[in-house]
Amino acid sequence: MKVWIDGRLVDKADAKVSVFDHGLLYGDGVFEGIRVYHGKIFECEAHLDRFYQSAKAIRLAIPMTRDAVRAAMEETIKANNFTDCYIRLVVTRGVGSLGLSPVRCEKPSVFVITDLLELYPREMYEKGLSIITASVIRNHPNAISPRVKSLNYLNNILAKLEAIDAGVPEAIMLNSEGNVAECTADNIFIVHDGEVQTPQTHDGVLEGVTRRVMLQLCRRLNIPCVEKTLQRHDLYIAAECFLTGTGAEVIPVTKIDNRIIGSGQPGPITQKLIEAFHRFTKE
Ligand code: PMP
Repeated sequence: MKVWIDGRLVDKADAKVSVFDHGLLYGDGVFEGIRVYHGKIFECEAHLDRFYQSAKAIRLAIPMTRDAVRAAMEETIKANNFTDCYIRLVVTRGVGSLGLSPVRCEKPSVFVITDLLELYPREMYEKGLSIITASVIRNHPNAISPRVKSLNYLNNILAKLEAIDAGVPEAIMLNSEGNVAECTADNIFIVHDGEVQTPQTHDGVLEGVTRRVMLQLCRRLNIPCVEKTLQRHDLYIAAECFLTGTGAEVIPVTKIDNRIIGSGQPGPITQKLIEAFHRFTKE
């Protein structure tokens, strides 16, 4: 397995960063998780947009052009002979001295890892997930905005641990107002009265690339869809629920906080959208 680091392809065993890298010392950096379907980088421009926007928000200048980043990903996929895989694209503030200031970090470090990824067992895609609401909230937008895909996922990791403690694979994170934001690494959707609903950007969510594709697919299929503030109560009384993310793709949810959602089976609109999503990845 080859990993691309700062312009070089190296073996996995040699893919190392310094202990003085501020990405490691302070979580100072941003990343992307991207899929490759049939040899093509899925929604590449949308991921590059978010990558550069996340970096801009934390005042980190990526030392590469978009074309060079795209070429680095393509080179890594090719070196590993993948046609379907997951890409982790990362930029860190780079090597600096101890102390928070990034001023003395000379050059940001960029790396690209490609690998296979299966987040959930197949059975969960067929039967749906049981999930809980975590007590840890999503980042307040006036701290580090949830729109920044930063290297600091500690809130989400703590929420994930709550899920694991409860014996379920995912957890819903609320925002500081107690409204629904998203799951630890996925956006959340419900279906209510035939309408697909998902929290708005300003409810404190990462603007998921899969979320955006899903909203486009709803429009294409003439399924009404809206972005609106949702409370936990809206989830409990929903007819259907599903999660979206690059890693998870689209996965139904059939139980939330021990309330059965709809019929307890993945609903018809969810199934239609899952099929539409898989068709879209083949286009
Ligand atoms: N929310 C969070 C917190 C995430 O980390 C992710 C990415 N795994 C998502 C939502 C989904 O975003 P995308 O569809 O772009 O992968």
